[in-house]
Amino acid sequence: MKQRLSILGSTGSIGRQSLEVIAALGLSVGALTAHRSGALLEEQARAFRPELVVLTDEHAARDLAVRLGDTPIRVASGREGLLEAATLEGVDAVLTAVVGAAGLEPTLAAIAAGKDIALANKETLVCAGALVTAAAREKGVRLLPVDSEHSAIFQCLQGCARPREEVRRILLTASGGPFYGMDRSALERVTPQEALRHPNWSMGAKITIDSATMMNKGFEVMEAMWLYDLPLEKIEVVIHRESVVHSLVEFQDGAVLAQLGAPDMRLPIQYALTWPERVPGPAATLDLLSCPKLTFSPPDRENFPCLELAREAARQGGVAPAALNGANEVAVALFLEGRLGFYDIPRLCAAALAAAPKVAEPTLEDILAADAGARARALEMV
Ligand code: NDP
Ligand code: MG
Repeated sequence: MKQRLSILGSTGSIGRQSLEVIAALGLSVGALTAHRSGALLEEQARAFRPELVVLTDEHAARDLAVRLGDTPIRVASGREGLLEAATLEGVDAVLTAVVGAAGLEPTLAAIAAGKDIALANKETLVCAGALVTAAAREKGVRLLPVDSEHSAIFQCLQGCARPREEVRRILLTASGGPFYGMDRSALERVTPQEALRHPNWSMGAKITIDSATMMNKGFEVMEAMWLYDLPLEKIEVVIHRESVVHSLVEFQDGAVLAQLGAPDMRLPIQYALTWPERVPGPAATLDLLSCPKLTFSPPDRENFPCLELAREAARQGGVAPAALNGANEVAVALFLEGRLGFYDIPRLCAAALAAAPKVAEPTLEDILAADAGARARALEMV
């Protein structure tokens, strides 16, 4: 079990739930980071007594340094601060719960420093799966999945103990989000408020919109390819409205293993920290007798084009997924501000994918350039 952790993005949905798990397991905290949520970070710092806290926003960090003046806790800021938190000495593992491509560089830095990664920030693997998995192999560090579907697969594969050839396919379950069953004409008119009302999970705004467009599931397909070294054709998506079966693995002999649980992120977070052990924790227990009837159906690829866009980006490889992700981040932010319609999200993403340069084995610089280019192009289109 991990003993001392740093959490990047501790004020977010995953970050806050991670601290609940850490408190329940009696683990210690080396560093906590956020973007500009100073008040909450101060509260967390006073409760968990880390060595370092970081706000990437310089203004907010100056303010926090004054407020924590009566404690020995060091306050840092900006990109350098985030990288320091990711590489802090004496920390076993770094939980990456920052949102978006901003999580990529600190994750690479943590791997280079030999830290195991409890990975929530899926955009890291979407943008730079080849680089990140190669770096982890080279350093002998583990990428432990926090995403519920990938944790389910990890559990079915007994923590990757079985050879990959035994897997016939993976079935990633998807709730379908708040707009499941709606057609294009209805989807054209949905509002950010409606999109933020996820039926089963309470998450940060960005991933909630990604769930509504199904881009989240497309990203998760790529995440699974990298985490489990599987080709795209072996990863399928199945709609499962109840979010009780968190994903399934079908083996060569036809056996299908699944992991079930209440929709509560604290369980996959905890398993990433305790693997291979299992201990009591704060997650809700599944009561099979009171849980709803479990249903499964195919995804609607026509009305939710983001799923196919992500698969296409995975097929293209290179910097295409990073370009797709960059455009998606811009489009989702503008949709949340009410400046774009729901269907403008796939429109901007498709344009980014079409314009993505062809780079066979991209370096980090190629990936960051593709990300920046796609963001600029998306903003221009608006
Ligand atoms: P939130 O938006 O709730 O939290 C994001 C965190 O990152 C906050 O601490 C925020 O700080 C910080 N942050 C935001 N922007 C930056 C930046 N540019 N640089 C550094 N830090 C930043 O997100 P979630 O917790 O929902 O998601 C986090 C990650 O986990 C995402 O990649 C998501 O896809 C993944 N994930 C989330 C799940 C969930 O249930 N929420 C499930 C599976 C995966 P501040 O508060 O100051 O803005
Ligand atoms: Mg998920």
